[in-house]
Amino acid sequence: MFIHQIPRIVPALLPKLIWSVPVSEESNEVYFTFDDGPTPEITNFVLDCLAKYKAKATFFCIGKNIQDNPDIVNSIIQEHHRIGNHTMNHANAWKYTMDQYKKDIQACDEIIVELKIDSVGFRPPYGRINSEIYRNLSSQYPIYMWSFLSGDYNHDLSTKSIIEAGKKHIKPGSILVFHDSIKAFPRLKVVLPALLDFCYQNHLTVKAL
Ligand SMILES: [Zn+2]
Repeated sequence: MFIHQIPRIVPALLPKLIWSVPVSEESNEVYFTFDDGPTPEITNFVLDCLAKYKAKATFFCIGKNIQDNPDIVNSIIQEHHRIGNHTMNHANAWKYTMDQYKKDIQACDEIIVELKIDSVGFRPPYGRINSEIYRNLSSQYPIYMWSFLSGDYNHDLSTKSIIEAGKKHIKPGSILVFHDSIKAFPRLKVVLPALLDFCYQNHLTVKAL
């Protein structure tokens, strides 16, 4: 069975990472995030969906995809969404040395700074970290994880089951993760409009981090 919602024990063990946004009782804000783009066509589809619902979101971009798709990055910024660092090459924390990993984050940071973009922070690819990264980086960057993993990249999941899980788990302060990638698109194209519509129907405001 696919676990969409982060078990409560995980944020308790890793409190320096951001798993959800603390919100007041009256708040109705939820946070949609998109990893691994920008990707031609797909990110534009996401932007169109967000615009339709006047929703704002956060894109944790891969540095080399930023380099390859400056026009899409421009659209993200022009439409008042936000961008975060997802490393230069989608670095896997379990396979890189700390030095290599830091360099990969820095390379992405440099591109973001060059474009004069105010980054929201960092999200580790695959959600993977190790104790060294936890110690070293959590004081340097806000590190955004998530409370709801859509699993849109998983072709064993049906769009129906993802939508149902989303409806069950989304609440004020939730951080949802999707992927504006080719792999996720068959599910994303169905799930994203459905969950944006669910938020709209339930008076939840979709905001950027
Ligand atoms: Zn990723």
